[in-house]
Amino acid sequence: MAPYPFPPGETIVVSGIQSSGALHLGNYFGALRQHIALHHKHPSYYFIVNYHAMTTVRDPDALYAHTLDAAITYLSLGFNPSKGNLFVQSDVPLLNELTWIFFCLTPVSQLEKATSYKDKVAQGLSANCGLFNYPVLQASDILIYGGTIVPVGADQKQHIEICRDTAQRFNRIWSPDRPLFPVPHAHITEQVAIVPGIDGRKMSKSYDNTIGIFDEGKVLNRRIKRIVTDSTPLEDPKDPDQDNVFALIRLFASDGQQQEIREAYQRGGYGYGHAKNVLTNLITDYFAEARERRRELLKHPDYVRDVLRQGGIHARERAEACMDKVRELTGLITTYRV
Ligand code: ADP
Repeated sequence: MAPYPFPPGETIVVSGIQSSGALHLGNYFGALRQHIALHHKHPSYYFIVNYHAMTTVRDPDALYAHTLDAAITYLSLGFNPSKGNLFVQSDVPLLNELTWIFFCLTPVSQLEKATSYKDKVAQGLSANCGLFNYPVLQASDILIYGGTIVPVGADQKQHIEICRDTAQRFNRIWSPDRPLFPVPHAHITEQVAIVPGIDGRKMSKSYDNTIGIFDEGKVLNRRIKRIVTDSTPLEDPKDPDQDNVFALIRLFASDGQQQEIREAYQRGGYGYGHAKNVLTNLITDYFAEARERRRELLKHPDYVRDVLRQGGIHARERAEACMDKVRELTGLITTYRV
């Protein structure tokens, strides 16, 4: 009999990020910052979700490049590979087996209600089965490592609910006496909620409205210039809480600095151009050290691939132990092993 793989009471942090484009401020404040903080405290499994990215990316070179770039971003921001596991989702293909089992447990009606799917289709993304089933693969991603805490942005709340339901359904049917899967919790930093993109919608790689974590110089200036603001004249008072530029400034500025800028908005005579300059400087300074580390890492792709390989080895071991138990509990006979 395969042993139960996940000791009760164990805290395991699990999360992923898509390799569908350069990582952006939404990814950082919604997820990466928490990932980095948590991996110092608990065992963690962070993966670059290249299967999920295939719902939109068709160019193999781009998928490969974005995957390595996401790993470089983690390392630049302070991820320490001796403290946690960073790896590529597709290095654990067993995931797809668990996903199939979860498909058989998931009502189509539950996926039809997923707002992220509906939003993406409404924005013109093709409604392929991968996009529709995205939350089921995500549930496997979390549960196959016995994840208990999932640091994500507020946009992922509903997907984590689907994951929780999936764990409970599996446990109820196949392991009622001794639940196999812990039921994970979303870890959401509420004061960040959803970071707006330059067009005011949720910042997302899928919407081409991002400011990249490592954008600098002319590229950064161009992106910030494009942030949508209203047409209130420079001399008039403005409401900072209705403005996309201020929403981004708040992520970087100290409380005192925020208060100063808030008052300047409300007084009038302070234009969006001023605020955009402040934002440019804040972003440039905030990521200065990480940018330096990134420049170094870009010279050492072999090191980055090695980090991913090592993380993948640990992840596969854990996933295999989980799947041995899953096959036993569900009655999937394995005839190639005795
Ligand atoms: P994207 O929508 O850019 O493809 P992902 O789906 O890869 O982003 O999300 C990776 C993580 O980043 C998730 O935890 C998600 O909640 C978080 N995230 C993405 N965009 C935002 C945003 N605009 N605000 C807050 N968190 C976000």
